[in-house]
Amino acid sequence: METPQRPEPGPAPLTVPPPADRSLAGRTALVTGAASGIGQACAQALAAAGAHVYVVDKAADAAKELAERIGGTAWVVDLSVPEAVDSLPDDADLVVNNAGLQHVAPVHEFPPDRFALIHRVMVEAPFRILRRTLPGMYERGWGRVVNISSVHGLRASPYKSAYVSAKHALEGLSKVVALEAAPHGVTSNCVNPGYVRTPLVENQIAAQARTHGITEEEVVGKVMLERSAIKHLIEPEDVAGAVLWLCGPGTSHITGTSLSMDGGWTAN
Ligand code: NAD
Repeated sequence: METPQRPEPGPAPLTVPPPADRSLAGRTALVTGAASGIGQACAQALAAAGAHVYVVDKAADAAKELAERIGGTAWVVDLSVPEAVDSLPDDADLVVNNAGLQHVAPVHEFPPDRFALIHRVMVEAPFRILRRTLPGMYERGWGRVVNISSVHGLRASPYKSAYVSAKHALEGLSKVVALEAAPHGVTSNCVNPGYVRTPLVENQIAAQARTHGITEEEVVGKVMLERSAIKHLIEPEDVAGAVLWLCGPGTSHITGTSLSMDGGWTAN
């Protein structure tokens, strides 16, 4: 009797690459601050997954250019103006509250109008967008709210009173929405990055280098990422990956959470 031949060891069988994730086909996403940085990466990722994206930003040219590139619709609005926010479409299935800005000054020197502006854009606008889009999500029985918070939604740093308090408020709004929306198939979560390589941060790096009289490399390694175990800036696409995952299949029980992606900052 012949001994069965063992198959020759050879290259692993070729696997067919999975089809591009089109799990959001037929959905509509509204992304604020989508003309730059994290918002832009989110808009691109959601569009690649099949969603029609409303590209919301005050930067008209960049918003229009991106909308054209990803087959979305540009909405040029200043989110600090309540009436403008209330003119945005209310039929989104996914909302990514992302637009934000920073101002760095000690509390006793912080300009009150700047404080109010930061809260209008980063807290009131998300509230106004959600109060108009949630009813449609409830009607359709499905929705995803992702709030781009920050490590500063969970921790404080000096000189960022408006930003830190706005992000903490956004965390609270996100949790309230999670509780109210749960019976309707709608989840609400925060994503909490550490420092991400975007124009917002690149401007801060330059400003801090001037203020402290140190190099930009020293600002990143020794000042910004002092509390982070990983000493590299996060890329916007990594944040978009987390947002896409929260909007994709298998996430219906993830709600009211804050997903830290901070290189170990909050573990420290
Ligand atoms: P960015 O400056 O690259 O982009 C912000 C976008 O928001 C811009 O396109 C800007 O035009 C838009 N915007 C600002 N004010 C607006 C207004 N009044 N109306 C309409 N649009 C407005 O910033 P980014 O770094 O991509 O930040 C996006 C979000 O991520 C912010 O909420 C920020 O707090 C958060 N975040 C950023 C980092 C980081 O390190 N970059 C870390 C944690 C969280």
